[in-house]
Amino acid sequence: MQYRIDLKSGNRLSALGYGCMRLPRGASGMVDADKSEKLILEAIERGVNYFDTAYIYGGSEQALGEVLRRNDKRREVYIATKLPHYRVRAHEDFGKYFETQLGRLKTDYIDYYLLHNVASLAQLERLRALGLEEWVARERERGRIFRFGFSFHGQSGEFRSLIDANDWDFCQIQYNYLDEHNQAGRAGLEYAASRNIPVIIMEPLLGGRLAGNVPRGAGGVFRAADSGKTYAAWALRWLWDQPGVTVVLSGMCAVAQLRENLETCEEAPPGCLSDAEREVYPRVIASFRESYKVDCTGCSYCMPCPMGVNIPGSFEAYNRRYAVGFVAGMQSYIMALGLSHTGKSGSGRQCAECGACAKKCPQGIAIPEKLAEAVRRMEPPIIRGAIKIIQRVLGK
Ligand code: SF4
Ligand code: SF4
Repeated sequence: MQYRIDLKSGNRLSALGYGCMRLPRGASGMVDADKSEKLILEAIERGVNYFDTAYIYGGSEQALGEVLRRNDKRREVYIATKLPHYRVRAHEDFGKYFETQLGRLKTDYIDYYLLHNVASLAQLERLRALGLEEWVARERERGRIFRFGFSFHGQSGEFRSLIDANDWDFCQIQYNYLDEHNQAGRAGLEYAASRNIPVIIMEPLLGGRLAGNVPRGAGGVFRAADSGKTYAAWALRWLWDQPGVTVVLSGMCAVAQLRENLETCEEAPPGCLSDAEREVYPRVIASFRESYKVDCTGCSYCMPCPMGVNIPGSFEAYNRRYAVGFVAGMQSYIMALGLSHTGKSGSGRQCAECGACAKKCPQGIAIPEKLAEAVRRMEPPIIRGAIKIIQRVLGK
């Protein structure tokens, strides 16, 4: 196993981490305990020591905790899990969720504890006002939280503000070759790494889509460059090549996937890509972009919108729907609209057509018109109904 050092703690973390959101599930949707146990134990045996889960990954914390307890493996691994901070309404809620998680994971401490899915500094400030820092300090003193960080799904400027706002032990970002300039992006990774903050990578394969259904043109580019390497290996090597990457989480739900990723990891130290390989990715990305509907680069020059529209996020999701797939696009769209967070929705439906954004766009995009198009394609009545239900549940 390749290990990378968490420069804040000195911990030696496996470069391949286990994303437990995608533990195998049966027809009922419940985590398949037997299959999960085999996978987790083989991963540990082969050197994986970082396991990531979350309060909201139905049954995942319980399954991981049970495997570690039954096989006496708790002390051999680092557990990372996440607080559903958007559900926290009062100071007592921090402890309420945390105790539940300790119980589910059958442990009395968490190695890496994260605020789940933070998108803005405003969200952190809300939690601070509820006494987050005091609560974390108490749990550190009690030896129940060792490292404290956040996972991020917002725009790049917010990432930098969040990094600057606290003495974080680590952070977790969505990052892969298609997201090089999306969300935190390469700039965010390098900013965090320059401060010795370990960066954990999620969605390295965009939920498997960079491993499977890449556009035909992209597949051709990869095969012409090296027919022996899988699409997943191309995507993972792009990440491990970067020294700022500490752990890459992969949601492995089959033994073959686990073994393939382990093999790829062994041969992918920082700087592993050859010059010829580096030249492959821009051509693959260009193939994805051919399917794009808007030439938005995600630069955010058009922001902020006075009506609260998340312009780059809406366009990124709209493009993703056509380049990657319907589910991937909708997931991104829901994130872009901020449905998982407090605050108002960032939907293009709120656009007042003032035109201020279009004047600032270096790509010359007719933003209000394109937003209207995105709303038509991304918010058909059935999706709009689902969005309303989610907003009601989240009290928005
Ligand atoms: S045109 Fe619409 S999206 Fe652009 S700034 Fe005005 S309200 Fe916001
Ligand atoms: S300014 Fe233009 S290219 Fe940049 S994020 Fe806005 S719409 Fe996209």
